[in-house]
Amino acid sequence: MNHVIVIGGGAAGLAACISAAREGAKVTLLEKNDRVGKKILSTGNGKCNLSNDRISPDHYHSDSDRESFLRFCERLETSEDLVFFESIGIIPCKRGDLYYPSSEQAASVLDALRFEAEALGVLVRTEREMTRDTIRKEVSEPFRKDDSVRVILATGGAAAPKTGSDGKGIFLAESLAGSDRKLSTIPFVPALVPIEVQSKPFLKNWAGVRVNGRITVEGTEVSSEGQLQLTDYGVSGIPAFQVSRAISRRLKSEPGAGLGVVLDLCTERELSELADLILNMKGHAPLLSGLLPKKLGEVILKESGISVNLRAGEVSEAQAEKIAEKIKHFVLPVKGTKGFDMAQVSAGGICLEELNENDWSLKKEPRIYVIGELADLDGDCGGYNLHHAWISGIAAGRSAARSER
Ligand SMILES: Cc1cc2nc3c(=O)[nH]c(=O)nc-3n(C[C@H](O)[C@H](O)[C@H](O)COP(=O)(O)OP(=O)(O)OC[C@H]3O[C@@H](n4cnc5c(N)ncnc54)[C@H](O)[C@@H]3O)c2cc1C
Repeated sequence: MNHVIVIGGGAAGLAACISAAREGAKVTLLEKNDRVGKKILSTGNGKCNLSNDRISPDHYHSDSDRESFLRFCERLETSEDLVFFESIGIIPCKRGDLYYPSSEQAASVLDALRFEAEALGVLVRTEREMTRDTIRKEVSEPFRKDDSVRVILATGGAAAPKTGSDGKGIFLAESLAGSDRKLSTIPFVPALVPIEVQSKPFLKNWAGVRVNGRITVEGTEVSSEGQLQLTDYGVSGIPAFQVSRAISRRLKSEPGAGLGVVLDLCTERELSELADLILNMKGHAPLLSGLLPKKLGEVILKESGISVNLRAGEVSEAQAEKIAEKIKHFVLPVKGTKGFDMAQVSAGGICLEELNENDWSLKKEPRIYVIGELADLDGDCGGYNLHHAWISGIAAGRSAARSER
């Protein structure tokens, strides 16, 4: 019987524990916090968007080599996690393409995982932070001495450090694999995070506005549409999250690069159609008040150099074009992204070319596995990251329990 030691009791680690214990392995979970699964509780605004129906490479990102990336994505194209959830008493329900637990409570997902692990006899040891020193005694020594020991690293990335993940799993992997087996890694950057723009007086005026629109990283095809949240530091909301990775990565490789984002605040109309609409507006209310949220309309007018007191019918053709252009093409010079504390996910980690795609084991030391966000694979908003955590955890747990290496 193999002894599987899982380091990190988040989504991936808990799935791995259950999967390994079901295969008959002795399983020990070492978790830094005083309880497991802290991050799971805050997912999906407390409802836990646990997977998605449209798993494909289009929704995942990695800085590892492209072929490895595609091989891993292929492994993710499965609904094994939904079957797994049913087996622990969580009934997934679909909202559009997104899966949630029918309870719509992240706490129910965590409870089901915890109780299942407990029922299977997983030894859960909390307040066990593995550091370069503690890992030697608690993990490396048994690992070196006993061929039946497998280690699954599930310490997460660097996002949301308050929940326990601090990006140090990379060092743990290196220290376990041994100094003669240097691993290729990609530095962590915040992804799925709000975007901070260069300070402008209008930011405080539009703070709090929520508006449907499109955000595009200037000069690229990186773009996303949905509800934008305008803030006093820049732009938040799901579309901003979706494009933030490209900004983080670019600024990491080229600090100080002059980047911009472009907002289209009226996606349903072409520029000329919008200009016509503004030119021919009726009524006596402030000009854009029936088209955009009031605070945003005022910012648009001021930034177009046009009086906020202008009324419908008083607009010239040139002014209408200028206003339409500002609405369709509002450029914001970017300062950066918010940090890891505000990020839902981090990009980076242990390169995929270091891992076997069938079970997420290290090629250089197949008795060690790297799962979840610690691997250099991150997904869009929409359940893709948890899906990756569950699927990698299930595969690694099963293999670690069964394998003879
Ligand atoms: C606010 C928020 C909302 C989110 N919502 C969603 C969503 O709805 N859908 C979705 O798909 N994704 C969502 N995500 C992302 C998703 O939660 C993560 O990608 C996923 O939880 C990663 O799982 P993981 O097991 O790899 O890492 P984590 O969940 O981060 O777990 C890592 C665990 O390892 C422990 N650990 C770390 N270092 C050590 C150490 N040295 N020794 C021992 N233990 C250690 C940590 O304490 C932690 O328990 C959200 C993230 C956040 C922050």
